[in-house]
This record gives sequence, C-alpha cells and structure tokens, in this order.
Amino acid sequence: MASLLSHHVGGRRWSDDDARRGEVFDPATGRVSRHVPLASASTVARVVEVAHEAFTTWRWSTLAQRTRVLFAFRTLVDAHRDELAALIVAEHGKVHDDALGEVQRGLEVVEFACGIPHLLKGGHSVEVSSGVDSWSLRQPLGVVAGITPFNFPAMVPMWMFPLAIACGNTFVLKPSEKDPSVSVRLAELWTEAGLPDGVFNVVHGDREAVDALLTAPDVAAVSFVGSTPIARHVFTTATTHGKRVQALGGAKNHLVVLPDADVELAADAAVAAAFGSAGERCMAISAVVAVGDVGDRLVPAIANRMAALRVGPGTDPQAEMGPLVTAEHRDRVAGYVATGADEGAEVVVDGRGLTVEGAEDGFWLGPCLLDHVTPDMAVHRDEIFGPVLSVVRVGTHADAIALVNANPYGNGTAVFTDSGREARRFQQQIEVGMVGVNVPIPVPMAYYAFGGWKDSLFGDTYVHGTEGVHFYTRGKVVTARWPEQGAGTAAAGTSSLHFPTSD
Ligand code: NAD
Repeated sequence: MASLLSHHVGGRRWSDDDARRGEVFDPATGRVSRHVPLASASTVARVVEVAHEAFTTWRWSTLAQRTRVLFAFRTLVDAHRDELAALIVAEHGKVHDDALGEVQRGLEVVEFACGIPHLLKGGHSVEVSSGVDSWSLRQPLGVVAGITPFNFPAMVPMWMFPLAIACGNTFVLKPSEKDPSVSVRLAELWTEAGLPDGVFNVVHGDREAVDALLTAPDVAAVSFVGSTPIARHVFTTATTHGKRVQALGGAKNHLVVLPDADVELAADAAVAAAFGSAGERCMAISAVVAVGDVGDRLVPAIANRMAALRVGPGTDPQAEMGPLVTAEHRDRVAGYVATGADEGAEVVVDGRGLTVEGAEDGFWLGPCLLDHVTPDMAVHRDEIFGPVLSVVRVGTHADAIALVNANPYGNGTAVFTDSGREARRFQQQIEVGMVGVNVPIPVPMAYYAFGGWKDSLFGDTYVHGTEGVHFYTRGKVVTARWPEQGAGTAAAGTSSLHFPTSD
C-alpha cells in the first residue's frame, strides 16, 4: 500500500481532511509509490494564514539571525545531498548524478542568499539639501507563494525560497504534484536549521490549490515556473489580484552550429543538452540549426553518439538517461516522432519501442533524432519536453538568427563556432534571455539572474541574482532633517507652501 505524503506547515507535518488525492509514480517501474494530498481552497487559506502570522515576527528578525539559519540550512542540504537526490530519482526518474547536479545548483542559491546582509544594503546620501540626508532601504513583501514544475523538484524551488526568506518574507511552496517528496524533506531541513515555524511551508495540490494562492488576499507575490499556458494564467490571475508576479514559462531552445565549428564538440554538446534528464529540462536543446553544409557531418556524429547512450533506471550508476515522468507524457512525446515523420521529417534514430530489462513497465522512450525538420512542422513549433532532437538546416548565419528569433519562446540558445566575430553577432542579435557560446546549456550562476524572453517569461524580473532580491523586496526612500529645537516659524502665516527643492 503506497504511503500518503503530508503537507508541511508551521514547522511540522500537517494532515488535512482534503478528500482528493493524487498518485505519485516511480517512473522506472511504472508503479504508484505514494499518494499526495491535493489541497482544497480552504486548506490553502489556512496555510496562508500560518505564513502570514509568521511574517509578523520573521520580518523583524535581524540579519544575523537570518544568516545563521541560512548557513545552517546550507550545511544540512550539503550533508543530505545524496538523500535529496535519491528522492528526486524515485519520483522524477532522472539519473542520480543528474539529480545531484540539480541539488548543487539549488545549493548555490542558498550560498548566494547567505550574503543577504550585503545584498540588502541601501544607498545613503548626505546633505541632499541643507541639513537633510536621504537613504534607501528595501523591506520584505509578506507571504510569497512559489509554484513549481516537476522537472527540477529541488532546484527550481531553491531558485526562489532562499532569497525570499533571506529578505524577510515567509513562503508557501506548492510543488509539482508529480514529485512532491523532496520539498517536504527540504522543509524538514529548514526546521532542523532553526527556521521559525511557519516561515517555510509546503502545501500540495493541483489547479485548485494554485488558484487559491493566486487569489489569496494575504499572498503578496507569486513566483511561478512551468509551462507557458499556465504561466500566462498565473500572471494574468495573480496580477489582477494585485500581486507582484514572475512567471517563467516553457521553452524551445536552439543550438546553432556554424560551418566553422568543431563538429565533434558540437555533437557532444547536442547529445548532452538534448538527452540529459531525458530532455525534460527547460534549457534542453530541442533543435539543432545546422548552417551551410555542416549538417552532413553533424547528423552522423550525433547519431553515432546516440547509439552508445545507456537508458535505464536512475538508480543504475551506468544509466545516462532515465524514463519520462509519466506514461501519459511519454506517449505524448513519442507521438511527436510519428507526427514529424508524417510531416516529412526523416527519422534518423527512433527510440520508440525501447524496453529496459527487468523494468518493462517503466515510462521509457529512447533518444530520437529527426532530420530535415522545417520551422512550420509541429515538432519545431511545439515544446516537446522529451528526448526528441530535431535538426533544421538553413543556408546562412543570418537565416539561423531569423529562425530562432521567429520562435515565440526565448529561454536559452547557443551558438557553436570558431569565430569570435560570428559569436558576437549572434549574442547581439539573438532575442533570447540566456545565450551560450560553445556552451550548450548556459544556465546562469546564482549571482546572475535566470530568465527568458517572450513566451518564456511573464513579468519583468528574473529569478535569483540581485533581481531576485529586488523581486522579494519593496524599496523605500527616507529623507530626514534634524533641525535645532525651536527652528520652526512662530508666527501664523509665515509657513512656506513652495514645493521642496534641494537648495
Ligand atoms: P506545468 O505548467 O504543467 O505545472 C507547473 C505547476 O503548475 C505545477 O505546480 C502544477 O501543479 C501547476 N499547474 C498545472 N496545471 C495547472 C492549471 N491548469 N492551473 C493552475 N496550476 C496548474 O509544468 P510541468 O509539466 O510541471 O513542467 C514542465 C514545464 O515547465 C515545461 O514547459 C518547461 O519548459 C517549464 N519549465 C520552465 C522553466 C523556466 O525556467 N522557464 C524551468 C523549468 C520548467
């Protein structure tokens, strides 16, 4: 009998009487491993109340208190990285090393947040007018909601909550209902680190819980990461309800290979970026744009490498690629291979029908390669989010840039070339938020901001880096004078009504 996961609210496991439950699968076996409660709107309202109450104290915590907890949390996540990775593998399906990488990238945001005393410093100007000083400060917003996708169940929440909490907010995380366990473990580690009860809370659920957070009067801001249609819904609904919102959406990332590129290097990069985590990454490369005649050399080099890829359970140390997250998603992704063939693409490598010995009921799909894809085909227009790599052939670098810029998404992209001049041209002209030069997955470090353009991000502020601090705080500017006692005018009618100037 699969166990039932709990919410984590007010520093402890928290059960509710929600009638609805979701199923959590082990994607490598296809079996239900847990059930997850799907919170009702009234449950969400109670969780927000707990976080709101905790805010009244946490907002006045000293910077030293906050950094002490952050450093302790950092140490605990570091010490438990294997255990956290195992939880990810069990519910997402990615291979253990890849899950460790995700924990590491999340940890780097915690480390960045440890510097919050420096990050929250304002500016100070002396004598802006005669005897007048002025300074700026940033204050927390209140309760912040984080709504996150299945594909990085630890890293994406960690893009958000370390900085939100460091800035003095309290946090309600609604993780993906497909792989919710690791967020509960992170909540337990926060409690162990000494975070006061109610500052970090996890509530499980689906659309009902999300919509309750988007409309809750006491939620001040929403950080969302997920697919574009839901990001748009989140942005529209939450802003209509007066909240600050950053909603990161889906992606279609292109790797442009120029004729002068090192083909072996480009092929390595394409295979790693397309099939790592079974293509279930928002920064995965899903289309190679082969410029000039480079496709003739590149496609066989990619296909050769694909033949050597080992697909298997994430717990198998030899496996390089795991299963997809659910059977439904696997079938949808596999459907694109058939659609691509129907539309005229050449199926160079067909991963459909792959079986893994001893795990026949897992949600498997081997890596797939489609050549001669054109921009009008569904395989190029849609975000597939699985191990299907398309190759689009174009004549010139300018054609490649135009093709990438015509795409409605703008999350990540990369160019492979030996020419600094061509790389610079690409970097300047491309309409995408994160750009790699001979780097296929250019995920910015924690001290830079992460975010895309166009349909890949709704809102103005990226996650983490100083933009994250900005998102989770409001600015205030104080202008102060300390005049001598008795400096006021004594007589009626002598007050000045003129607009203050700096003289
Ligand atoms: P998703 O949009 O289905 O779900 C994301 C979150 O929204 C989950 O918590 C889910 O419970 C909730 N949700 C789902 N349907 C909803 C609805 N109708 N109303 C309200 N809430 C709803 O995304 P996913 O399948 O979990 O994750 C994959 C997607 O996330 C891909 O599109 C991927 O590109 C995107 N993603 C983007 C980034 C980025 O940085 N831009 C990062 C990771 C993932």
